[in-house]
Order: sequence, then C-alpha cells, then structure tokens
Amino acid sequence: MAKEIEVFTASELQTFKDCPQKWYWIYKRGLHPLPTANQLMGSAVHLGIAMKFQGQENWREEIDILFRKEAPVASEIGDLYLKKEIAKILVEKFPIQKFRGQVIPEVKFEELIKRPGKVSGLKLKRIAGKVDGILIDHEGKNWLVEHKTTALQASDLIPRLVIDSQVLIYLAFFPLELSGSVLSVIQKPRLRLKKNELPDEFLERIRLDVDESNFVLEFNFVDRDLVEKTRREVADLIKIISDCSRKNIFWKNTSRCSLWGGCPFYQLCSSGQEDEDYMRQRFQVFETKHPELEEKIKEEEEVPF
Ligand code: SF4
Repeated sequence: MAKEIEVFTASELQTFKDCPQKWYWIYKRGLHPLPTANQLMGSAVHLGIAMKFQGQENWREEIDILFRKEAPVASEIGDLYLKKEIAKILVEKFPIQKFRGQVIPEVKFEELIKRPGKVSGLKLKRIAGKVDGILIDHEGKNWLVEHKTTALQASDLIPRLVIDSQVLIYLAFFPLELSGSVLSVIQKPRLRLKKNELPDEFLERIRLDVDESNFVLEFNFVDRDLVEKTRREVADLIKIISDCSRKNIFWKNTSRCSLWGGCPFYQLCSSGQEDEDYMRQRFQVFETKHPELEEKIKEEEEVPF
C-alpha cells in the first residue's frame, strides 16, 4: 500500500520551534485553541483584502458571515462587534492601488521537501500553505505578497518580516520563481473606547484616524542564500519532528508559557492530567492535522497563472 504523504506548514514548523510540547497538543492531538477576537479581526482583514483584489464587492457581508460563524467559538466575545467593524474600516481604506501589477490573492501550494543532495527520508514529506497573494509586475515577474496586521508601528515590523520564517519558507518552497516579497503591514488603530462613548461614535473616530500611515508596503528582492539556508533548515527540522514523533518525546519550552497573555495549553501541561471536558470547552478538536488546508488543492488551482 502506498505510504501517505505527510504535509507540514510554515506555522506548524514555527510552533515546533517555539515549543515541541505545543506542537504535540496541536498537531498530534488536534487541539486548536479557540480564536480570539483579535485573531478573528486579522482573518476578516485578510478575507476582505483578498475579495477586494478579486473585485468582489460583497466583502462586508462576507466579514459579517465570518464573524457569525466563528463568534460562538471565539474565546472573547466582549468586543467582537467593534473588532468586526474596525476590520471593515481597515479593508475599506486598504490601498490596493499601491500594488502595481496584477495581484492573485490566496494562492495555495504544496511542494516536495528535498534537502539539496539528500533526498532519502524526505521523499514523502511536503510543505503546504496558502500565500496571501502573488503579484505579477509589469515585467511579468512574480512577487510573494504577505499581509500582516499589527498593533506595533507598521514600519517597525518590516525589518522583522524580512527574516520572518513564514515569508522565507514561502519564498523557498513556492513552486514558481519569485523575485522577492511585497511586505504589506496593516497597523491596527490605537484608539480606545472612551468612558460613556457610544460604539458608533468610537467607530467614527477610528474612521477619521485611519489613514495611509496605517499601511506600509515594502518590496524586498529575494536573498538566494537565505532561501537556500531556509530549505536546509526546514529539511533538518522535519527530521527532528519525525524523530520526536516516532519516540513520542516532546520537550517543553517553559520560556514560552507566559508569553502573549499565557499559553492556552498551560492547564494541560501543568496538571499532567487530560480532562476531556476541559479540552472540549477550551479547544476545537480536529481529526486532521491541517484543517485549514482541508479543501484539497485542485490541479488547475495549483498555479493559476
Ligand atoms: S504551556 Fe508552556 S510547555 Fe506547555 S505547550 Fe505551552 S509553552 Fe509549551
């Protein structure tokens, strides 16, 4: 019987680098933390921008649908309405005219992982993902488009994104020659709801506050050495993950437990017991390793240009 192909994603590899035990909870046990209101806002911004690039005008309705679908499982429901409306303001003001060329949004890909000169052992491993977009410029060159929403100053995020592991992995494995990346940073508004301020008054302040300084776009030519190094690192990392999986040994990186408001798996890691009710209440449980890639890539979808 043919051996199943194992698929890895950039965020999965980053999770393992952050904490192998966290990788175990998510990718071995299928426990996916419920989305936060902020994560939902980021997804809504990505969705709205992709639809704008496709010329679809019903992106506001689709953002409403996304929030309706995800809201019952979102882990913070308090400010969902505001987050949804702020996402719409960001999409509305997003400067698609600055992308000179044709942008094909949300392109999926799947590619074999091969370490240069060493193929054995990795033949059945693939890297898969969905890039935010591919820009085809006026000379016919292809560029990876990556949008990131941030609470930081937009321009401060660019230097980090140049060496961001997801961006590098996409540059290394996307099955077309890429000239580089278009890093698109979307800075979330910093205003806060004032005491006694009505939500609609607050949203009007936000609408007036968001301007072109909330959106930074930077073109970076690909660094071939960095990309080659990324290919080798990915191949090595996947061997380590496969070894850990075979031996069922996942070490805990406790320096990560209290970052970003606390790891959602802390209770499971610290109690040493697996309470099924707790797991069902706090996580979405998936049978498959990558539910986000469930929709199988169709042949004609793979490289639509
Ligand atoms: S609680 Fe700490 S050790 Fe456990 S998965 Fe999270 S980061 Fe890793």
